[in-house]
Amino acid sequence: MKIAKNIEIKFLGTSSGEPIPRGDDCEQCQSKDIKDKRLRASILINKKILVDAGPDVLKQLTRSQIENLELVLITHDHRDHCGGIIDLTKIKKDLEIIHLKPGQHFAWEGIDFYAFKIRHSEVVTTVGLEINSIVYIPDSADLEWAQKYLKESKIAILDGSVLNRSFAGHMSINEIINQTKNLRNLRQIYFTHNGHTHRTHDEMIRTVKALGDHRYTLAYDGLEIEV
Ligand SMILES: [Zn+2]
Ligand SMILES: [Zn+2]
Repeated sequence: MKIAKNIEIKFLGTSSGEPIPRGDDCEQCQSKDIKDKRLRASILINKKILVDAGPDVLKQLTRSQIENLELVLITHDHRDHCGGIIDLTKIKKDLEIIHLKPGQHFAWEGIDFYAFKIRHSEVVTTVGLEINSIVYIPDSADLEWAQKYLKESKIAILDGSVLNRSFAGHMSINEIINQTKNLRNLRQIYFTHNGHTHRTHDEMIRTVKALGDHRYTLAYDGLEIEV
């Protein structure tokens, strides 16, 4: 049974493996739009629970003035998701950090968490996370094991690393849209872990809406949603 408590999610970072801009002369890297400045993918739940702690984590917490983190959840052992753990433990010694395992289920202050297995790189699997009626899958080579959770959620936050081709453990945005378009239970689908597509944030929003429908959009650093 779902718990009716509201959840606030703040996107602390929305880039793929490396921050955006990447320093070349493409439209995306040259964009003046603040939404085109992305740090590594991470979300903050109800101001207290952090999901993933990449190398930018201290900067992300400082700029959002987050001082009382209570729990950190790590999806998998790739540097862009766990490279900042040591920095975190330096600022707060008794911080509880959970490396999520597939099948792990727990509740925290009225929020129900369930981690499920997701295929990612050839050596590292990762987990997707169901947070009440939100599903968070920042990295995915495919969505085979996510079907059940995608079908029972209202909001999906999915892998925006690459647009038209699969690459190094990431299925394309195109393919994700094909596989989720018919799931009418999903009210909104956000892409995070956004990569170097050479298109600006605004252009990418137009692209995902054209490939899918009005429900698709891109998250950006600092975006807050309440579900
Ligand atoms: Zn990643
Ligand atoms: Zn570029």
